[in-house]
Amino acid sequence: MAPAKPRVLYWFRTDLRLHDSPALKAALDLKPECLYPIWCWDPHYVYRARVGPNRWQYLLDCQSDLSASITKLNPKSKLLVLREAPQTVLAKLLKAWNISHLVFEKDTDAYARERDEHVISQAKEAKVAVIVKMGRTLYDPDELVKANGGKPTMSITQVQRAAEKLGEVTKPVPTPESLPNPGDISLDFEHTQPSPKPDFNDIQRDDKETSYTHLAGPKGDFAVPTLSELGLKPATTQHRGGETLALRALDEIISNTTYTATFSKPSTAPTAFDPQSTTLLSPHHHFGSLSVRLFYWRVKDILREYKGKQSTIPTNLVGQLLFRDMYFGAQAALGYSFAQTSSNSHCRFVPWHLPSKVDPSNGLITGHHHIDSPEAESWFDRWKWGKTGFPWIDALMRQLRQEGWIHHLGRHAVACFLTRGGCYIDWERGAEVFEEWLIDHEVSCNSGNWQWLSCTAFYSQFYRCYSPIAFPKKTDAKGYFVRHFCPELKDFPDKFIYEPWKAPMADQKKAGCLIKGDGQETEEGGIRVYPKPMFDFNARRTICIDAIKSAYRVNLYGDNPRVKDGTWREL
Ligand code: FAD
Repeated sequence: MAPAKPRVLYWFRTDLRLHDSPALKAALDLKPECLYPIWCWDPHYVYRARVGPNRWQYLLDCQSDLSASITKLNPKSKLLVLREAPQTVLAKLLKAWNISHLVFEKDTDAYARERDEHVISQAKEAKVAVIVKMGRTLYDPDELVKANGGKPTMSITQVQRAAEKLGEVTKPVPTPESLPNPGDISLDFEHTQPSPKPDFNDIQRDDKETSYTHLAGPKGDFAVPTLSELGLKPATTQHRGGETLALRALDEIISNTTYTATFSKPSTAPTAFDPQSTTLLSPHHHFGSLSVRLFYWRVKDILREYKGKQSTIPTNLVGQLLFRDMYFGAQAALGYSFAQTSSNSHCRFVPWHLPSKVDPSNGLITGHHHIDSPEAESWFDRWKWGKTGFPWIDALMRQLRQEGWIHHLGRHAVACFLTRGGCYIDWERGAEVFEEWLIDHEVSCNSGNWQWLSCTAFYSQFYRCYSPIAFPKKTDAKGYFVRHFCPELKDFPDKFIYEPWKAPMADQKKAGCLIKGDGQETEEGGIRVYPKPMFDFNARRTICIDAIKSAYRVNLYGDNPRVKDGTWREL
């Protein structure tokens, strides 16, 4: 029987917070008799996405913190963690708890759209009203795309123009002061908690689909699980999640008015790590433990009052959030294809491989090896595990693996190095590694930025490559960053810190580290070993630039039979 007063199922997903949540506000505006705050483990996240222990930890932090905050507002309530896929569990919950309204934040990720359509149609069948509100970006990505003439947003100028049509970003909504009770939480069905494979890194791709076990877990208590209950190794990152920490971090940033008003991304140091030089709010934005609109408006308030010279869009903090919206808009328009080259109408096709030579008569690549060649595969592995022999690249990849976050320009450096500025390996493979290790991994931002860095979309100045030697020297001539993340190099003289292979043997011995091998060995005769560079960077840069030039020409004139309308097709 339909309930007399609204009974709300509030489904937390990308919005693990109580502050500035338009969806939660809409739920509370119904003045419900009861509100069930739930989270469902989504097998898409548990099984299909690559999620390392650091991001798991961050997610569990967010859930625990949210649950505690809910209980503070109503001691009878907490986050109810469901151990089943939304596509199957929600319909059962709607019935078991006699729900009248299902409410959640809008998610424009390709998979989320499919999932939500499915859930919405189930709710409609059950005569349950569904309320969906946007709160994840400054602008609703679908509205942004509409205001951009129905096209994906591929530049910051397009975002700005579209934003002008849409008007100012909506102001944050107030944080609730109380929450309704949940109703009876007993279930007439059992649910189990899926467990990820203990160490994602050590397993082969094919194993991933088949070898997960289902961990029964404590049933019926709806508790946030721990990493060990999930069968995961402990996290190695010091970065912790949750709305409480997010709001504290935001207060700290905003209290430094000069930092906030003069923030200019290109002049922040990618080598700064303790503390970092940018806000490190991205994981909070990813999990929704910090509202981007709250961040935006608090920055705007500072900019309105600040008397000194301010930085401007696109390098200032507002500009950074607009970049985020740009990638969300591009993905909203292109769907699944945005995260890949195949059938992505806006991603240039590049035949990623190891071009050994460019034919000077026509500028086309000759005698190239396919990506599967042992050399490319070993370059990829050495890049991933921080053993390229280029200390700047290795330190960044080790920081990424250990801490789950690296500075934006550090991401530039390693992404350029893997693709068009060194290895000439497909950006999609690099994006997969980022997906696994980043704590702020966002499908749209990750895919979009990888396309930018590989010059396949958004950006095309392929002749501008990052040198792994000159670039870090600009902000860290003494190599503190490298010494920290590659401790085997910590006693190298400053002048060799980015090029240790140039150090004479006597210096190497004095520093207690020999430069030799390909990264397989870590010590020899009790002395530590750091690998030789895996290639001559300057030679590779020239080869890559020539190859990209040729790939651009192929894209432009379509003289590659495998490329049609800018996309790859099998012959
Ligand atoms: P700040 O410089 O303090 O910026 C403030 C906020 O603006 C960030 O928290 C973030 O939400 C947003 N932002 C800033 N720069 C960008 C950008 N270029 N694109 C999108 N949003 C931005 N960002 C992600 O959030 N998730 C990803 O998966 C991701 N993958 C990336 C992959 C590559 C190859 C590159 C080059 C960049 C990637 N970025 C990604 C963008 C950017 O590096 C991070 O958002 C940023 O470094 C986060 O640090 P911060 O919070 O200190 O940023």
